[in-house]
Amino acid sequence: AKQRERKPEWLKVKLNTNETYNDLKKLMREKNLNTVCEEARCPNIHECWSERRTATFMILGDTCTRACRFCAVKTGLPNELDWGEPERVAESTEIMNLKHVVVTAVARDDLKDGGAAVFAETVRAIHRKMPETTVEILPSDMKGDYESLHMLMSSEPDIFNHNIETVRRLTKRVRARATYDRSLELLLRVKEIAPHVPTKSSIMVGLGETREEIIEAMDDLLAHKVDIMTIGQYLQPTLKHLDVVRYYHPDEFQELKEIALAKGFKHCEAGPMVRSSYHADEQVNETAVQ
Ligand code: SF4
Ligand code: SF4
Repeated sequence: AKQRERKPEWLKVKLNTNETYNDLKKLMREKNLNTVCEEARCPNIHECWSERRTATFMILGDTCTRACRFCAVKTGLPNELDWGEPERVAESTEIMNLKHVVVTAVARDDLKDGGAAVFAETVRAIHRKMPETTVEILPSDMKGDYESLHMLMSSEPDIFNHNIETVRRLTKRVRARATYDRSLELLLRVKEIAPHVPTKSSIMVGLGETREEIIEAMDDLLAHKVDIMTIGQYLQPTLKHLDVVRYYHPDEFQELKEIALAKGFKHCEAGPMVRSSYHADEQVNETAVQ
């Protein structure tokens, strides 16, 4: 058998399952909603749901038309479009009393608009019910369809997030049917449509990238006017997914964060447990374009 990298101590956290967490889990089942927090067994779930009042909803079903090799979401024939979902997300936002909501979705390559209409309606429904709550959207590349992007942006999200996930060289191996350049282009287009909306992108490290390649990714994001970058450790969801090539030390994350800030990102989160939506509530005010 091949030698696997052993998980370092700083990544061994116990899932915190208190009463609030269990109540919220029940709420998700009642409302028939999916969250990335649960799906990805995110180690930050207690902090986000109970303390920070943040959650990441995954809409448009639980089945993706793509099969990225780092992602635990199941692949297959997607669910019927559910027009009741936007309202249920808004209701849950109210019940959970969320301050910041991230809305993401599986890639719906089967739909002409990539699911943009339901996505936009979800953002509107949250705005209507919870006008103080900030909404961050994290859509797929929508196959590079900019009409869908316009539709999505008309719902006035507070942050636009789209992840390049990895460096240029590894994109083909890591992401199914996405390209590095199409993702960069999408981020730039958002700035053209809504220059006041902060944009954000994330990479996972530990997939075999070099330091130079990470720095190149930073430069590429900045060249496409991205405001916020997050950098986290890739963790293998199951043995069928890509192997972890390396675990970065917390000090290395700190160094990457310093480089990113020195290069000109307005905000950067970097750390072993950092996820695309981690501490997202703090980024809204800090990066608000005056
Ligand atoms: Fe959910 Fe993101 Fe927080 Fe993890 S970091 S619990 S996915 S909101
Ligand atoms: Fe996972 Fe998104 Fe890739 Fe689908 S498109 S497999 S949800 S990362």
